[in-house]
Amino acid sequence: MDNHFFAALRARMPEGGRRFIETPDGAVITYDDLLAGTARYARALQTLGAMPGDRIAIQIEKSADAVFLMLACIRAGFVILPLNTAYTVHELDYFVGDAEPAILVCDPSRESELKGIAARYGVKAVVTMDPTGAGTLRQMAAGQATDFGDVARGGDDLAAILYTSGTTGRSKGAMLSHDNLVSNALTLVDYWRFTGEDVLLHALPIYHTHGLFVAINTVLMAGASMLLLPKFVPNDVMRLMPRATVMMGVPTFYTRLLGHPDLGRMTTAGIRLFVSGSAPLLAETHQEWFARTGHAILERYGMTETNMNTSNPYDGERIAGTVGLPLPGVSLRVVDAETGALLPKDTIGMIEVKGPNVFSGYWRMPEKTAAEFKADGFFITGDLGTVDERGYVRILGRGKDLIISGGFNVYPKEVEELIDAIDGVVESAVIGLPHRDFGEGVTAVIVPVTGKCPDEAAILTLIETRLAKFKQPKRIVFVDELPRNAMGKVQKNALRDRFRGFYTER
Ligand code: AMP
Repeated sequence: MDNHFFAALRARMPEGGRRFIETPDGAVITYDDLLAGTARYARALQTLGAMPGDRIAIQIEKSADAVFLMLACIRAGFVILPLNTAYTVHELDYFVGDAEPAILVCDPSRESELKGIAARYGVKAVVTMDPTGAGTLRQMAAGQATDFGDVARGGDDLAAILYTSGTTGRSKGAMLSHDNLVSNALTLVDYWRFTGEDVLLHALPIYHTHGLFVAINTVLMAGASMLLLPKFVPNDVMRLMPRATVMMGVPTFYTRLLGHPDLGRMTTAGIRLFVSGSAPLLAETHQEWFARTGHAILERYGMTETNMNTSNPYDGERIAGTVGLPLPGVSLRVVDAETGALLPKDTIGMIEVKGPNVFSGYWRMPEKTAAEFKADGFFITGDLGTVDERGYVRILGRGKDLIISGGFNVYPKEVEELIDAIDGVVESAVIGLPHRDFGEGVTAVIVPVTGKCPDEAAILTLIETRLAKFKQPKRIVFVDELPRNAMGKVQKNALRDRFRGFYTER
């Protein structure tokens, strides 16, 4: 048995002198450097006492060294445990206690605080890496040899634990196997037509599945290269755009870039593919992007637990407001959440998926895992949606965002789409708030165009004829912006908390 992930990577690796990463300051890192750098980090982690199967918790800023560190974990049979850089020390206590990593890699500024937590949970060592890659770990790695015998791992062995972004409730550790990652990356290389000539503009964070696995693994399995930006800064992205062939982003990337004066056909002429995911892309953004650049953004749908499930086609029609078709090898169905019965086309229900991309369960939560898988192996995504005649999937919100008003189900997306199309509205979030008569009162939280002062009554009148009475918002609240997490997802629970007493306290 060899190392499932790394063997797949080696089988596709281009000639060693080929470029793997280029940083904005012009530094070039080759595939030979990848092999040497990951060997050094793998050896350094072994020296610190990590054993195959151990978790390596990593809370650091993005850098080429950070990418090497993740890949070194895979080579040495460790389990990558990336943590959002925004997590506070208090939050880290939960993750470290839950995952019990052997090693904790953190920013130097956090070292002393984290040592206390590490001692409490038996972590063997706390080492550091700063945004340039420097720190105690690189010092240790520098003295190590540049060869390394990949530790044998099978397809089902754990490669990573990714804690779900948790817009509600407690974060759960999704266990991803070597094969989950390899199979999904190979599917995407094929579906999105990646080749060794591709240059990916990488501005996503690498503690989340989108930037870490969708982006980097696709590049690796194609033997391609990437321009690695530390973070998303519109000016930097626009400056590097002419040198890239593909960009992957969350919807906020696209809305922000639309506000940049340099965005146009000339600056995007070298790009063959723009991909969007992690949160819904407004149909309007899709259309504006097409008008400005001539490119139809390809929207896809995935989750931490499942990797990528669906994608709009490369050659066929990319339909705004849909997430496309199930990827090859992925089975997707829409069922009645109560009875489990398969629903007809165009009927809203719970989306369930099955395939080699789907994780094996939540870390140390066998009951949660059992509750979210069906007996026939389908995973209950928690997303509500439909499949149309042609097989295109639409996401209509999270199950927990469903509003039940006066006993009737209201799907927020349906109301949001109508409101978003109104002149003077940038975007909206429709939520249910505690209401004495209705249980939940449908409420629209609206971000108006700057300088415009839309009128609540006028908006309500505009949608009156388009929506059944029970779906119409009882009230509208105007805000400057919607609360979002790092991946651009609107945090409806924050809105529900903020406006909790809106109907009951009046
Ligand atoms: P995460 O695990 O952080 O990647 O979040 C996964 C969730 O993001 C999914 O269950 C969906 O609710 C949402 N999501 C991902 N991609 C899309 C998309 N293209 N459109 C709408 N929602 C999406």
